[in-house]
Amino acid sequence: MVRPLVPVLLFILLAGCASELLGQAEIPRWCKESPRAEFKGLERVRLRDARNDAWFEVYRVAARVFAVYEPRQSEETIGYLIVGGKKALLFDSGMGIGDVREVVTELTKLPVVVMNSHTHYDHVGGNWEFDTVYGMDTEFTRQSARGGTEVKGEIASGEICGALPEGFDAKGYRTRPWKIAELKHDGDKIDLGGRVLEIVATPGHTPDAICLWDAANGLLFTGDTYYKGTVWLYRPETDLDTYGRSVTRLAALAPHVKMVLGAHNVPVMPPTVLTELAAAFAKVRAGEVAGKDEPGGKVVYKVGETSFLRWGRPVF
Ligand SMILES: [Zn+2]
Repeated sequence: MVRPLVPVLLFILLAGCASELLGQAEIPRWCKESPRAEFKGLERVRLRDARNDAWFEVYRVAARVFAVYEPRQSEETIGYLIVGGKKALLFDSGMGIGDVREVVTELTKLPVVVMNSHTHYDHVGGNWEFDTVYGMDTEFTRQSARGGTEVKGEIASGEICGALPEGFDAKGYRTRPWKIAELKHDGDKIDLGGRVLEIVATPGHTPDAICLWDAANGLLFTGDTYYKGTVWLYRPETDLDTYGRSVTRLAALAPHVKMVLGAHNVPVMPPTVLTELAAAFAKVRAGEVAGKDEPGGKVVYKVGETSFLRWGRPVF
């Protein structure tokens, strides 16, 4: 949930007219800009399955950590496969367009559990394919797990770069229900065998938003609480006071963090983004930042490299 919709719609309209006139397939502008420069230094892991390799891009971003990136859909969602000695954890299962379970099976033979950074549709699409999905003990999570969220707008032509995977059921595209195997809480530890991940509850973006903290390796997986790009804070389930407390908590963790790994656009960021995030959000909430109006009633609040998106005014 990272791209302003109206410019995209305008672009679809314009590109649609142009492509009709020229008889050419339309290529969204964001698609032409990929791959992003930040990926150049990362090691890509090619998938044996050509269909999966065409939809996903997998990068080795740290020891036994793979970023599973979906660059051909405008959300540019990133899930992470974190591998321990006895099992692996998939932190978000993506859009549900490509077959993420097949990807994971290629990357590890260990049993895989799924945990979501939060249960917005762009992070839970492949949950149904896994037997063991942990969930936060919130009503929001339980509601999301019932599935059925209508998400067809995400596969409109301006949102897709190239072709959808062969065999994908575009007509029936919506979130599928999944079973919550175990409820989790703030501070719970998940032992993968020689690698322990701690749940750091960071509600705000959604009530069930979490970060995963791999303390031994200094890796903080931040989901949508922070990613490189404008952070969307406008949905009914978003709570700004709670979000403020969560980003303050992350800033306190920053001195111990070596790498921040977000859920959209770019997988690897330095820990300084956490202190910048907390400072930027505090400034915006103090009314010190003039919002910039965008089409469709949206307002973007930008402080340095950090920005937040809200609808309408007054918003903070
Ligand atoms: Zn998201």
